[in-house]
Amino acid sequence: MDLYDHPTFAMAARQFDLVADHLGIPDNDRDRLKYPKRALAVSIPVRLDNGNTKVFQGYRVQHHLSLGPTKGGIRYHPDVTLGEVAALSMWMSWKCALTGLPYGGAKGGVTVDPRKLSVAELERLTRRFTQEIISFIGPQIDIPAPDVGTNEQTMAWMMDTYSVHTGFSVPGVVTGKPVHLGGSLGRREATGRGVAYLAGRAMDMLGIASTGATAVVQGFGNVGSVAAYSLAQQGVKILAVSDVGGGIYNSKGIDTRALDKWVTANGTPVGFPDSEPISNSDMLCLACDILVPAALERQITEANAGNLRCRILAEAANGPTTPLADEILDRRGDIFVIPDVMCNAGGVVVSYFEWVQDLQSFFWSEQEVVDKLFRILEGAFVQVTQQAKRGKLSMRIAALSVGVKRVWEAKKSRGLFP
Ligand code: NAD
Repeated sequence: MDLYDHPTFAMAARQFDLVADHLGIPDNDRDRLKYPKRALAVSIPVRLDNGNTKVFQGYRVQHHLSLGPTKGGIRYHPDVTLGEVAALSMWMSWKCALTGLPYGGAKGGVTVDPRKLSVAELERLTRRFTQEIISFIGPQIDIPAPDVGTNEQTMAWMMDTYSVHTGFSVPGVVTGKPVHLGGSLGRREATGRGVAYLAGRAMDMLGIASTGATAVVQGFGNVGSVAAYSLAQQGVKILAVSDVGGGIYNSKGIDTRALDKWVTANGTPVGFPDSEPISNSDMLCLACDILVPAALERQITEANAGNLRCRILAEAANGPTTPLADEILDRRGDIFVIPDVMCNAGGVVVSYFEWVQDLQSFFWSEQEVVDKLFRILEGAFVQVTQQAKRGKLSMRIAALSVGVKRVWEAKKSRGLFP
């Protein structure tokens, strides 16, 4: 199918094919599981502050509808394409199924560099995008959330636009909202916290003491920054962090509290005192216990997989490792991979909690949220590590197998219509 042609979609499809071979899924069932159920492409005309009008392209892809509404983030990035969004929606399906959530996967995006728009332009873009996809989303249909380049404010604008359309407040249409609008305590931190929790479990398993262990974090946005702070709280020394503008390194460890203040004031870790610059590519190959890619897809490839010097690869980003890199990591056998569909699942798990709280108008304490989150991640970790050991599988194939199998079983039970 050419519609979704993109290297990231090819990568997700390749992973699916490997899992389908492992599970023995018949050819007849494969395309039905692999390709998105439906996709919407929209043009978004936006009046710019200078009076000109610019048209942006936006997408929303719903991967499967067999287990409930669909769920997934909205990305604002200049490289967004339909194929990339489709790949991300497929991974969301396996992630939701792996963690037992009653959702299919979805993803959306707009091809835009949000850093080049004013706040007022971003608001107009978000409201018009929401309007264009309004019949495609809803608390029982498809529930967006933040992803790269979007945040709580973006979700507040989406929720408001949808609510104006219906004539009453509908907080359950998006998750990752501000807490005072029906957001969940602990949602903003959930993905990074989950990454640190699972990295901690991997350290336990490998006999690495967290105090004095070292970590490198690529991408210092929502997920990467919280992962770095949460790891630091466990006693882990953060050697290097980066964003799109470059990286910083300190062999003695970066003071994450001071870095937090610096980033709040300057918008980037670059230039942080008491550190030296390092490139994004060099930092991936630093010797460390935990490497956390928390930026974009396809960062660990056949070109650098042989040079990684970490013991644990905690995939906070979606799709950071290509299938060719996976082959190299499998051959090496010395790096414990926490695959993306499990590693960053904390975000969608707490999004699910937010949706449940919104539907019931009954809100939980942060401690309840964190306890329930860790219980679900623990269950996934135990199941996937056992499956990997029993079947002599890579952690990626084991994690994807659990997710794909659940969706496959749901589709088999529901049957083919008509
Ligand atoms: P974000 O926009 O808050 O942060 C992204 C960070 O990556 C920024 O610091 C940006 O400067 C940096 N970056 C971009 N390109 C880079 C490059 N080439 N090299 C180094 N850094 C680069 O986004 P986020 O929400 O933190 O998402 C990060 C990753 O986590 C994405 O893959 C996303 O799909 C995934 N994820 C996010 C969530 C969530 O809850 N936000 C949940 C699950 C997975």
